[in-house]
Amino acid sequence: MKLTERDKQYIWHPYTQAKTERSPIPVVKGKGAWLTDENGKKYLDAISSWWVNIHGHAHPYIAKKIAEQAKQLEQVIFAGFTHEPAVRLAERIVRLLPGDYAKVFYSDNGSTAVEVALKMAIQYWHNKGIQKTKIITFKDGYHGDTFGAMSASGRGIFTNPFTSLLFDVIHIEPPLPGKEKQSIEQLKAAIGSGRRQPIPNDSQPATRNSQTSCFLFEPLVLGAGGMLMYDAEPLDKMISICRKNNILTIADEVMTGFGRTGKLFATEYLENQPDIICLSKGITGGFMPLGLTVCTEEIYQAFYSDDRAKTFFHGHSYTANPLACAAANASLDLVEKKGFKQSLKRIQSRHVAFAKKLVRNPKIENVRTRGTILAFDLKTKDATSYLNKERARIYDFFIERGILLRPLGNTIYVMPPYCITENELAFVYAEISRFADSLLS
Ligand code: PLP
Repeated sequence: MKLTERDKQYIWHPYTQAKTERSPIPVVKGKGAWLTDENGKKYLDAISSWWVNIHGHAHPYIAKKIAEQAKQLEQVIFAGFTHEPAVRLAERIVRLLPGDYAKVFYSDNGSTAVEVALKMAIQYWHNKGIQKTKIITFKDGYHGDTFGAMSASGRGIFTNPFTSLLFDVIHIEPPLPGKEKQSIEQLKAAIGSGRRQPIPNDSQPATRNSQTSCFLFEPLVLGAGGMLMYDAEPLDKMISICRKNNILTIADEVMTGFGRTGKLFATEYLENQPDIICLSKGITGGFMPLGLTVCTEEIYQAFYSDDRAKTFFHGHSYTANPLACAAANASLDLVEKKGFKQSLKRIQSRHVAFAKKLVRNPKIENVRTRGTILAFDLKTKDATSYLNKERARIYDFFIERGILLRPLGNTIYVMPPYCITENELAFVYAEISRFADSLLS
């Protein structure tokens, strides 16, 4: 039986409507920016396989480091035990991040990195004896598919069946170009609405009474929400407002981390550093699942106590899996190599040049770039949305031509591995141009 038939018999794929979508492509090999299927057809992975594969597929150096680690120590319970790859990775991440961070908490993926961050923020206040549980997030945000991460995300097609079970968060507009003021005003109003009734004769400033525990956001690019891009300046203001109001800030850098926005972390564009950072996806170069939640000493200290009740009772079986940490350390070795930053710049400048061409097409709108991400929307009869009817046509067009692009509805984006060559980029752009031109005829 062929692989696709065996697959069909037993496998349920993510984000896939098996009844209407094309069969999955059986991939047998990956190399550089390319995937090869069992018939020898090649696909240029222009979205880094859901944004994780930053150095290219099956990178021999990362593969070697994982193999070495597998022969040494494959897994160990991380409560009561530790190991070199986890310690080394934590040391490096704390050093690389722009803010003043102190501690790394490990988990398995982007959603769990966010779950940990939210629980950390809420328990931080709880441990201090302050009842603050409200959470502010962007209405178009996406933070993952577990219940806490879903609750913190925008409401829509992904979350509809679960609405009644999700906890309430205060959604505000993201500060997209032209909406900065509105977004900041909404943040202020949300903080205001989270205040307790003033206590008579309470001498503490009103802001001390805010019930808002934290503000969670994707810095500079809202990914799954439609590759919506905004500037650092309004976000800086928002973090500063939160700080003045004793509200913790959490940057979800699961997608933006490790070079996506042109700098190693999107928070490098900020002057005010968040209290907590969530990392995953690119951290292992796309080899192993791993999530990190990194926090300041101030947060850690709220848990450090003789009182056992103040412990952070959270963990996963594979917390800080040594193979995943070895992959991440190997990926960081590549990140720290000389050519890494140049490759980000090279892709960025090529995207910007191509974007200038795209804006001339009247069937395309909202052409935007940020670092190694290029995105634009097709003008279609339907409104721009994840369920836009053109989506399947766009996906098929590129797959048939050997390019993996996975549009978010009518939003097409390119987010390649950084090893992509000039010729490979030119190939992707040429096919996008061909598609765009076909819209004109
Ligand atoms: N946060 C952001 C910003 C993401 O883009 C994603 C995934 O796309 C997640 C969290 C969830 O990560 P995972 O799919 O690894 O659970």
